[in-house]
Amino acid sequence: MDTEKDARQAPSGKSETFFIPEVLGADHRVPTLSGEWVRQIFMDNAASTKPFRAVSTFLRDMEGYYSNIHRGTGFDSLLCTERYEEAREIVSRFVGGDPERDIVIPVRNTTEGLNLLAMTFALSPDDVVLTTILEHHSNDLPWRGKAHVAYVGRLPDGRLDMQGFERSLAEFGSRIRVVAVTGASNVTGEVLPIHEIASRAHQHDARVVIDAAQLAPHRRIDMRPHDDPGHLDFVVFSAHKMNSPYGEGAIVGRRDAFAGAAPYLQGGGTVYSVSLDHVIWADPPDRQEAGTPNILGLFALAAAINLYERIGMDRVAEHERSLTRRLLEGMRGIPGVWIMGPGDPTDLEDRLGVVTFAVDGLHHNLVASVLSYEYGISVRAGCFCAHPLIKSFLDVDKEREKAFEDRIRGGDRRDIPGGVRVSIGLHNTDEDVGRFLEALRAIAAKEWRGTYHQKFITGEFVPEGFSFSFRACPGFPSEPGC
Ligand code: PMP
Repeated sequence: MDTEKDARQAPSGKSETFFIPEVLGADHRVPTLSGEWVRQIFMDNAASTKPFRAVSTFLRDMEGYYSNIHRGTGFDSLLCTERYEEAREIVSRFVGGDPERDIVIPVRNTTEGLNLLAMTFALSPDDVVLTTILEHHSNDLPWRGKAHVAYVGRLPDGRLDMQGFERSLAEFGSRIRVVAVTGASNVTGEVLPIHEIASRAHQHDARVVIDAAQLAPHRRIDMRPHDDPGHLDFVVFSAHKMNSPYGEGAIVGRRDAFAGAAPYLQGGGTVYSVSLDHVIWADPPDRQEAGTPNILGLFALAAAINLYERIGMDRVAEHERSLTRRLLEGMRGIPGVWIMGPGDPTDLEDRLGVVTFAVDGLHHNLVASVLSYEYGISVRAGCFCAHPLIKSFLDVDKEREKAFEDRIRGGDRRDIPGGVRVSIGLHNTDEDVGRFLEALRAIAAKEWRGTYHQKFITGEFVPEGFSFSFRACPGFPSEPGC
């Protein structure tokens, strides 16, 4: 199909099923406990997204030209070098980077990007990194041990406490060197007021780091000019959450911040000259790009961005908002289901289609397993790499925390607290949401077919006498065609 043409022609507001052909794996069938095969409803998009068909096709066409970049003199190497640098520009433009003053550092994922920043900023134990309780561990743990990390809390409804943010600014003042916040929560779906946060942070001369892993696939990001008070100094995101799951991510941010910084990893590609007793490091970004990069991965990210741009981020948001409205309306009407974070279906301006919930009286892993084994619906259960936030929603006090941590140390992970997360992606449809709600209604009424047992070591629930067989799926040595 002609992706570009169709993306432009799809009537606005009627995009419900339109995106399905764009996304591989949006409609294949999977087995269920009853023996029936059903169309899989993939609603685990906050973890990873399925690849865009256009990206996969582009990669297939490009693979034969693969060659290492920079300094190769052959045709393929020159071609790949040109495409690589062009991809870097596409990535920078996508988030409104400044072509002169910002650089793009390709990394494996958001986690690596945030670690790179935490390792290369010259922080000392007296400095403060101000972050929030909403963070994914990847925007929390890398800062620990490098400086004092302070956390802004949440309001009772789950939103970031902006007054608490102001109190922290007043408390730590000029000690704050970095304000590192998520662009959107991977648990509550809240979109944070990042420019407002940046303006206030800059008044304290702090650098602003945005973990855009969740934001980038769903909303337009604009870093804004460097002299704008709401400017974002660093934006970090992952391609696998943007329909390009080929091991790539990117940091876009201030060139000058890396000018004096040591390389995060040291080795080939990071130097201009090496003697046995000294090294002249290359200028950024090369200095931060040790070893052979994931060349096809960056191409794939740029190709996905091109498709997002052609569809238009406003249309992406509009499509997801209409499904989120239906999802929240439905979930709020199911007795025993409660949502962690803002759940008002009429207030979706600053909210993604990421909804974490619990069902009274049911283990989160059981809910997720029944959805999968009996309905072919893929969601996720657990703490979503945001343990402090989930514990705060579930009122896990120190005593309870110690009790389950003691059991974890003994190899028993059955009662780790957690929730279930359903997350909307571009390929999801009204029908997907409807099927999910129907299934959740039955589960909340304690209706399911199988007899489930919980595994001691993993805490997962599996139905008695049944397990998925993957033998008929591609990649296994038997007949193809899952
Ligand atoms: N931050 C947020 C908000 C996320 O949702 C995730 C992924 N779940 C990450 C960081 C880490 O991303 P990655 O696993 O791609 O490094």
